Amino acid sequence: MKIAVVGLGVAGSYLLNRLSEQHEVDGYERQPFDRFNAVCAWGTSRHELGKILSPLGISFEQYILHDGKYMRVDLGEEMLEIPLKGLVTFDKHQLELDLVKGQRAHFGVKATPDSILNDGYDLVVDATGNHRAFLPKLSQDFFIPCIEYKVRYNPSPPTDDFYIKPFRHDSGYLWYFPLEKGNGYVGAGDFFRKHLEFADEYNRNHPGEIIKKIGRPIRFTPPRLCEPFYQGKVVGVGESIGTIFPILGEGIIPSLECAEILCETLPDLQEYRDRVLDHFSIFYEIYRLVKLKIENRFNPIRHANLLMKTYRYMKAREERFGMTIRANDLYKIIRM
Ligand SMILES: Cc1cc2nc3c(=O)[nH]c(=O)nc-3n(C[C@H](O)[C@H](O)[C@H](O)COP(=O)(O)OP(=O)(O)OC[C@H]3O[C@@H](n4cnc5c(N)ncnc54)[C@H](O)[C@@H]3O)c2cc1C
Repeated sequence: MKIAVVGLGVAGSYLLNRLSEQHEVDGYERQPFDRFNAVCAWGTSRHELGKILSPLGISFEQYILHDGKYMRVDLGEEMLEIPLKGLVTFDKHQLELDLVKGQRAHFGVKATPDSILNDGYDLVVDATGNHRAFLPKLSQDFFIPCIEYKVRYNPSPPTDDFYIKPFRHDSGYLWYFPLEKGNGYVGAGDFFRKHLEFADEYNRNHPGEIIKKIGRPIRFTPPRLCEPFYQGKVVGVGESIGTIFPILGEGIIPSLECAEILCETLPDLQEYRDRVLDHFSIFYEIYRLVKLKIENRFNPIRHANLLMKTYRYMKAREERFGMTIRANDLYKIIRM
């Protein structure tokens, strides 16, 4: 097939690499090569990324910047210390560039349906993340606005490991993710749009040199509410169809999983749709849980099943999430 992959974020760069094994593929990225930015806090599980990338002949270990021991969760009156099981930060920017090296990647090209759909492609992959530039707009689409700073600390960072501070009603959280050589990402995402306030307060209390500032919303709408996944010769992957784990805002692994499902099911887009809905069905349940919390309608007794499902799903996948999952921690965070 002749395929265009639009958007060379994590899903698109993986697909350009993977699909080029068997197809004629062009990748289009609107950011110019020399200013390409992999917007994200770069946190993931080394076990899962190692598994996903090894069939491509890529060793994930070379990209690791910080190997976490603990995630400190600041609940105000209490600080949880969650032992980690492979949660790391990694050089996502370099990984995405390496995935497209030697492939037909065109940077600095903002693709539009007019320009691409008439270009003789059999399939156009919408990997444009929160833009969803090629698929119909959704009637109900929820986003968490985010701000993130890359900060250089001298002489030392505010803390030596992962730190998060959830907001009331679980409407979002503030994070500090350590990078290499005393650098770190300070960010915040908040449904109620107080993210700037929280991040700036953290920076005032822990001053450092701000190297970069990025603002971008995360799609919070789960795949079940992001249909259609395909229309005509366009098919969506990754965040364009909602593959973000709702309670964490974590999208790297789910977007790669989604991209791999497309590789396995091509050219059968109906099977792709069914597999995506099945694989990410729990995202809808967790989305409901977070939404109930945000709307202040969560009742620990009436909604205990949602809490249990979330716990069981994460507990069975500790290495995939890169952390020890304890019912008590989850309960305390949700109860806030
Ligand atoms: C501040 C922040 C922090 C995050 N931190 C984490 C984290 O630590 N861990 C984690 O797992 N997830 C994190 N996420 C979520 C994660 O980054 C995304 O869910 C994931 O990157 C989605 O991958 P994607 O390839 O679908 O989309 P993206 O990575 O968003 O890639 C989409 C690409 O498409 C390009 N594009 C858009 N429109 C066009 C067009 N018309 N033509 C050409 N190119 C186009 C964009 O420039 C972009 O490069 C974070 C998100 C944000 C906003």
